[in-house]
Amino acid sequence: MSGAADALVAEVLTTGRLKGLPQGHFIEGRFVAPMAGQMMESFDPGRGRAFASFAAGDAADVDAAVAAARSALQGPWRQMGPAERGRILGRAAALLRERAHRFTVVESLDSGKRLTEAEGDLRGVARAFEYYAGAADKLHGDSLPLGRNYVGFTTEEPIGVAAQVIPWNYPLSTAARGIAPALAAGCTVVAKPAEQTPFTALMLAELLHKAGLPEGVLNVVTGTGAQAGAPLVAHPGIDHITFTGSVETGKRVMCAAADHVTRLVLELGGKSPLVVLADCDMDVAINGVMEAIYENAGQICSAGSRLILDCSIAVDFMSRLTARVKKLRIGHGLTNPDLGPVNSLRQLETIDGHVRRAVAAGNCVYTGAAIAKSEATADGWFYEPTIIEARGTADPLVQEEIFGPVLTVQVVDGPDEALIAANATPYALVAGIYSKNITQALRFARDVDAGQVFINEWFAGGIEVPFGGNRKSGFGREKGMAGLRSYCKLKSVVARI
Ligand code: NAD
Repeated sequence: MSGAADALVAEVLTTGRLKGLPQGHFIEGRFVAPMAGQMMESFDPGRGRAFASFAAGDAADVDAAVAAARSALQGPWRQMGPAERGRILGRAAALLRERAHRFTVVESLDSGKRLTEAEGDLRGVARAFEYYAGAADKLHGDSLPLGRNYVGFTTEEPIGVAAQVIPWNYPLSTAARGIAPALAAGCTVVAKPAEQTPFTALMLAELLHKAGLPEGVLNVVTGTGAQAGAPLVAHPGIDHITFTGSVETGKRVMCAAADHVTRLVLELGGKSPLVVLADCDMDVAINGVMEAIYENAGQICSAGSRLILDCSIAVDFMSRLTARVKKLRIGHGLTNPDLGPVNSLRQLETIDGHVRRAVAAGNCVYTGAAIAKSEATADGWFYEPTIIEARGTADPLVQEEIFGPVLTVQVVDGPDEALIAANATPYALVAGIYSKNITQALRFARDVDAGQVFINEWFAGGIEVPFGGNRKSGFGREKGMAGLRSYCKLKSVVARI
């Protein structure tokens, strides 16, 4: 970490506040006060205290942002070629790297995540802008073979105004993976960050304008889901919605989108299986499990939250894994512990509720299963890293997303049983397998229902790899070239000659 970041961290840890955060919404290239004048507070999850306020937007602010985005579709943005759009995104990537320390401190403070995780996120965000900077001028259509008397071709056109509804667990990463391809495709954007983590999306919008984005092309409205999110997704001036969040809200967004037949990408929840076969490299698999469920305190849609373990190695594996988990140091995200807080009191209570119900039903606990209480966690929202046995496939611990540092364990006999267990929930976001037998692993990859499969490394991949789920995990894809095409409409042209 740089000296500047150290100083910023020290300032926050001493004063509990951070100066110079953006104020207001970002509309038409500048920060503006909310029309109704309402503000709300953002909390430091590591201390359970408010550290700054931000605009509580409503339908009037959303109207202004959508109007700005619609009008920008007809302005200089339209005249800019794809190469120039790419140059702006490339400059944004460079600026993000230059200003990384402030972004990472704000992201860590607002979401609760460990500083090193926020640094990793920032590198990924810069990479996303770099990737789509290079992709903007490679978005081409096809020629269509219709015989000598016709010329047929397709073009990829920008959809128009793209709404981005963003959750609190990866505020900047999720914003970037939607905004960068939307801009590369030539769309304009209205983004609505989660009310728990509003700041880095506002900072990103300001940075993109410094990189040369014309006014109105990217607008950010902050506020709650009910007051700002709902009017945005129901707005007739929106042509596309990328929604990342819970299944319940996703269903409401889908209904709102239906009213105007608005195109939609839904990135929803997960309950992803992490299969460990008898022939795995046990050290690699244990490291994989640790990362899969305790990164960001388990608040990851693609967390490996269900360990499916071969019975022949179960005793040894569980004793080694449990010993590792018991050593994790819990603390404020900015102090770089092994495990940070969860994002909100509500989330803490939700996690605790899931675990309490399981314990009351008789599930055996390997470790954890309680709200963390120590000097380091005194006022914040911390949950002990937990491992808990699942009682059969129907167990709510297997079927329901917990979204916290809670690993459930299912013991199975061989790869066939592992596959059946892996496919036995309504979710299908990602899946992973640890095995030295690549044929076995690739058979699992072929047969498991998931948008992405990891073999011998959880979270393997980057912005190049399309991401998204099936079934209740949603539909549509972000990242990679598939993510860029989500912001395009295909036109076919045929001429008789
Ligand atoms: P949430 O659905 O409560 O909120 C997500 C966003 O939607 C927030 O910005 C919120 O303000 C907004 N919102 C709420 N109600 C709305 C409405 N009626 N209309 C429009 N917008 C509305 O989800 P959450 O609890 O903040 O996030 C956690 C969930 O997100 C988990 O289920 C997790 O798996 C999922 N998630 C999925 C991915 C993915 O890529 N698949 C990534 C991160 C999180």
